[in-house]
This record gives sequence, C-alpha cells and structure tokens, in this order.
Amino acid sequence: MAVHGAKKAMRGPADETVRVSLGHGVTLGDGSFTVMAGPCAIENTEQLDKASGAVKQHGAHVLRGGAFKPRTSPYSFQGLGEVGLKLLHEQGKKLRMPVVSEVMDVTQLPLMMDYVDVLQIGARNMHNFSLLREIAKTNRPVILKRGFGATLEEWLLAAEYLLDGGNDQIVLCERGIRSFDNTLRNTLDLAGMAWVRERSRLPVIVDPSHSTGVRSLVVPMSLAAAAAGADGLLIEVHPTPENALCDGPQALTPEMFGSLMNTLPAVLSATGRKMTGVDSLAAVGGTR
Ligand code: PEP
Ligand code: MN
Repeated sequence: MAVHGAKKAMRGPADETVRVSLGHGVTLGDGSFTVMAGPCAIENTEQLDKASGAVKQHGAHVLRGGAFKPRTSPYSFQGLGEVGLKLLHEQGKKLRMPVVSEVMDVTQLPLMMDYVDVLQIGARNMHNFSLLREIAKTNRPVILKRGFGATLEEWLLAAEYLLDGGNDQIVLCERGIRSFDNTLRNTLDLAGMAWVRERSRLPVIVDPSHSTGVRSLVVPMSLAAAAAGADGLLIEVHPTPENALCDGPQALTPEMFGSLMNTLPAVLSATGRKMTGVDSLAAVGGTR
C-alpha cells in the first residue's frame, strides 16, 4: 500500500527511528520499551497521589493524567482543568517523571506549555489541523493518537503536519478503531501498528485501555503489543477503579499494573528488547 504525501513521516532506506526525548532521561525510538501510566482523569489530590505513587513504584517511566477530558456527554465529568494540570506537574516534579496530558484545542496550548512535558493529541482531534499546526510550532514532544475512524495513511498524514511545521518529537499511539463489531469499546489494530512501525520514522506505542475498554484485556493486549514490536504503552491505572469518574471499567488496579510490569521483561527479552532506562535507574539507585 502506498502512503501518499507522508514523505517526512516515512522511513527512507538510510533512516533511523526518530529519537523522542520526553524529559527526565526518558527516550523513545532507541528500541527500548517505555511505559506511560496513570489515571484517565485527574480527580483530586489523593487519587492522583495514590495512582502516581503506584505506577512509579512499579516502574512506569511517564505519568499520564487528563485535565481536559473529551467526554461523549456534556454532562459527564469534564476534568479539573488548570487545577488538575498543577497537581500533575507537582507529581511529575516530585517523582521525577515526565508528565503527559491531552490538549483539546489551541486556546489551551499556552496553559499546557506551562505544566506538561508531553502534549497528547486525542483520537477526536487527530484531524484538527489548526491544532496540529500550532503544536508544530512548539518543540514540545507529542503523543499523536490515531483517530478511531482514521486509516493508517490519514494517521501518518496528521503526523506529517507536525513534521512539516518543524516538530519531529512525535510518538504515534494506536488506541483502537471503530469496526463493525461493537462488542468491545474499539478494535485494537495491532497489525496496523506493526505496519506503521516498520515503515515510519516515528516510534509507535499502544493504548490497551481505550482500544479494549475492558480491564481484563488490558494486560494480555499490553503483552501482545510488546511482542508485536511497539515502542511502549499508554495505560490507565486508578487506585479504586470502581470509583473512577472516567473510564473506570478499563482502568487497571495498581496490583494488576504491578503484575504486568513484572511480566513484560520476559516478553521483551524473547524479542531481543528491554525496558527503557533500566540501566539509568540502577545508576541512580532507582530514584530517577
Ligand atoms: C484518553 O487518553 O484518556 C483519551 C481520551 O484517549 P482517546 O483520545 O484515545 O479517546
Ligand atoms: Mn480515558
């Protein structure tokens, strides 16, 4: 299949994968495996404290948390906004982890730039070309989620907007697409992820939470993504998923996340890879 016009996003014969530096020494695109985890939405100090402490303790490299939430219903919890961003920023500093949060529109961008290391472009915004163009002008790393109705070519062309505007610090994220089957929240396109990873210069991660919507499937799909060559994962973890204000049914408990982190190294080593930052973690006594 040809990908027309995504010339900067595609890998030439001599191209290596773009190295994307997220901060605090976490780099994607060097063949190692990076785990980003945290709650879907930042709800309050205690919830974020518990979620962040747990994911850090179990070895996550990047902390996620939504402050502006794109909800299907206007009556659902919309996120804490700037208050949430401040809490996330503080946790990142305390735990020495880069933090990622979703920017929903251009008016939020200046605020996001003050608080987050990595900007997330959500599935609903993959086609928001004015947002892509504004983010391109920053040099902030970006996680670009695949739209749930987007072809692989359209996803790569969205990345091309960022590249063409001068920002190559892009991590692509497969988060499931809408198919004829609506049993699960989405259909995880692992083959599409692997196809893009073979042909693109950009690192590609998988979000096993939104792509399934089902807690019990998050661990197996995470392991499958690792086996299929993904550069990392973006996972939702909540201290008490039954009380979550957003996406509780797909959130891992801290215990489940811990057991995933214990299992991943074996899958990675079976395919000749390892976790990001294992050496540098050891070098600073595990406090990186
Ligand atoms: C999220 O990461 O919480 C989110 C809203 O993701 P998506 O844009 O993939 O639906
Ligand atoms: Mn979510």
